[in-house]
Amino acid sequence: MRNYGRTRSLVTGGAGFLGSHLCERLLKEGHEVICLDNCYTGTKENISRIIHDSSFEFLRHDITFPLFIEVDEIFNLACPASPIHYQFDPIQTTKTSVHGVINMLGLANRVKAKILQASTSEVYGDPAIHPQREDYWGNVNPIGIRSCYDEGKRCAETLCFDYFRQLRLKIKVGRIFNTYGPRMHPNDGRVVSNFIIQALKNQPITVYGDGSQTRSFCYVDDLIEGLVLLMNTGDDFTGPVNLGNSEEFTILQLAEKVIGMTGSTSEIFFETLPQDDPQQRQPDIALAKEQLGWEPKVKLEEGLTHTIAYFDTLLRKAST
Ligand code: NAD
Ligand code: UDP
Repeated sequence: MRNYGRTRSLVTGGAGFLGSHLCERLLKEGHEVICLDNCYTGTKENISRIIHDSSFEFLRHDITFPLFIEVDEIFNLACPASPIHYQFDPIQTTKTSVHGVINMLGLANRVKAKILQASTSEVYGDPAIHPQREDYWGNVNPIGIRSCYDEGKRCAETLCFDYFRQLRLKIKVGRIFNTYGPRMHPNDGRVVSNFIIQALKNQPITVYGDGSQTRSFCYVDDLIEGLVLLMNTGDDFTGPVNLGNSEEFTILQLAEKVIGMTGSTSEIFFETLPQDDPQQRQPDIALAKEQLGWEPKVKLEEGLTHTIAYFDTLLRKAST
């Protein structure tokens, strides 16, 4: 029997980095949570704290296959996010963003649920406009090694807006910029996790290119707050809306910061810049401030402190 007094939320990709934090947050708010994941990059360990909560249910499923389930809202986060993982099986990455999103939009339409699509700053590609505003259409290579993800996510946005225009589906599109924090996958090759692990092991810090490319790093708690606020906006607000921290750092600055904060003896090594690596990234978050009353609160040093502590514990456990 449904408990009609409570919101039943489906979180696809719920056993991943962002998804697991989101599941915890929704449970705290009194939701029933169904966490769907095919465990490609997500793990049961990520949801170990909530797996026995009576309001929580884990469903192993791949969103590229249809799903029939009754829910009130869908947070569609299923999709590998790190370049290493999404480039490992690029066809599956596109399928997840296209077939998977069609399945989730179809489900939302059938059960009249709201759906929030986790989109990405990658829809801007290597941006020619700085900082990036939502009305910028982007500069994306359609045939490069990042395209399975970038174009997949762009097509997912198109599908959301066609379901909105054609079927009046309640959609929310959030464009997430680089987010970091505890439960990032240790082998996902992303810059924050790589640098912290390398620094903690006193191994060379691998800076790709000359390190002058920039990113803006958002701490996971801030991002989750943004996603929840976005889902709770009125039906007339669809986005797309940027969700990210607008403080911008070069990758070299990040490397130096991580070395300093860990007291590491690591040295910086410069390696080849991967193909199509965006040169700069900084969100314009005026729309999020105006529509969601949201802006990030956690400074990079504070967020890095939590993340370093997380990886330190993880490495110690692995060595015992
Ligand atoms: P993640 O890899 O930790 O999580 C993705 C989850 O989706 C994993 O648990 C994975 O197993 C699952 N998954 C992948 N394909 C699936 C499929 N076909 N069916 C079911 N489950 C599937 O990544 P994350 O950082 O938590 O990212 C979550 C979402 O946010 C993604 O959609 C990503 O594109 C988006 N995003 C993240 C960032 C970031 O910086 N972390 C930035 C922009 C966008
Ligand atoms: N990067 C780096 N060293 C690493 C991993 C990444 O210099 O060990 C760089 C990468 O080339 C990119 C930036 O850091 O310019 C962010 O990379 P990440 O994979 O974290 O995210 P994305 O490129 O998707 O923003």
